[in-house]
Amino acid sequence: MNERLRALDQTYIAHTYARFPVDLVRGEGSLAYDGAGKAYIDMGSGIGVTAFGFADPVWCGAVTEQLTKLQHTSNLYYTEPCAKLAELLCRRTGMQRVFFCNSGAEANECTVKVARKYASERKGPQYSAILTLENSFHGRTLTTLAATGQEHYHELFQPLTPGFCHAPAGDLAAVERLLREHPTAGILIECIQGEGGVVPLDPAFVQGLAKLCAEQDVLLMVDEVQTGNGRTGTLYAYEQFGICPDVVSTAKGLGGGLPLGATLIGEKAKDVLSFGDHGSTFGGNPVCCAGAYSILERLDEPFLASVREKSRLAFSMLQGAKGVRSVTGLGLMIGVETVRPAKEIVSACLEKGVLCLTAKEKVRFLPALNIPTELLQTALERFLSVCADC
Ligand SMILES: *Cc1c(COP(=O)(O)O)cnc(C)c1O
Repeated sequence: MNERLRALDQTYIAHTYARFPVDLVRGEGSLAYDGAGKAYIDMGSGIGVTAFGFADPVWCGAVTEQLTKLQHTSNLYYTEPCAKLAELLCRRTGMQRVFFCNSGAEANECTVKVARKYASERKGPQYSAILTLENSFHGRTLTTLAATGQEHYHELFQPLTPGFCHAPAGDLAAVERLLREHPTAGILIECIQGEGGVVPLDPAFVQGLAKLCAEQDVLLMVDEVQTGNGRTGTLYAYEQFGICPDVVSTAKGLGGGLPLGATLIGEKAKDVLSFGDHGSTFGGNPVCCAGAYSILERLDEPFLASVREKSRLAFSMLQGAKGVRSVTGLGLMIGVETVRPAKEIVSACLEKGVLCLTAKEKVRFLPALNIPTELLQTALERFLSVCADC
């Protein structure tokens, strides 16, 4: 580790992150290199962001071509990359309108605005509650923290945006009770709770929510910030839960490494946002959108089948292995409960040249979707040798 860099960072960067003692200087596909030239197999893709790995030539080509033409215009003018990306997103999902922003939290902020305006116009402004689930994660702004159903994120930052309530995941009766008690605009869920420990929801519960939402004209909104853009082996995870949401938020992998968030709005609420209701200076930036288009275009059925194939390989290697208690997730979003503490495992993996993530008490893998099978296998072998060492 470069000590000068560590000291600089410690002195001048706010201490909100516990960084690993590694300085990454470059990458290629699923390999990253530190300042001393040591190679790491990347099993985290910058928390599910670099969907096609580091310095992916197709993405780099799309980005640099746009970069040298026009890097920013503001939303006062039309640009092709943003319109084309919106069209592709709608064509691939059946959604009707897209609002572009710069992050997952902002994409979720937009879902709240859409739900509140939709409900206010139809039923009255008192229908403002947003129901989310316990153990969820929706972002770090004061509104998305309020949406996040984990108390420890809330401490010290009160008061948060009012009007949020949380139900235990899987408990439809509790959801029905909350809907009776609080005039509700929307329900926001993650199909797989990522930061909550890679915990998939029960599809029957998700379908039950969809039914309640349809009956009560409450918007069903799915946070696909982490699960979206091919991560779970389908373009969006909700496809595997047998529902068609009214609103979808996404970010992370969509931009492939540049900041881009999107809120996709379906038929019911497509005309809710009108002139002046929302905006973003950077949202829909042409460079980010050109890169995103090059990613979304490649997430076709054969590619998604390859993600599912790699997922099967990973699950078969992990399940029942020594030192592994359980494996959860879908596609290439994988949570592993280990006998040894997750933090210890991740540090040991770092030593062995593998970058992993944690989620709560689990080790979490979010490799690039195009990680070569041999690298995936090698990374998991190294991880399992650390797990077995207990
Ligand atoms: C990461 C994440 C967010 C927040 O995204 P940012 O880009 O950090 O604002 C929101 N929801 C989910 C499910 C996430 O995984």
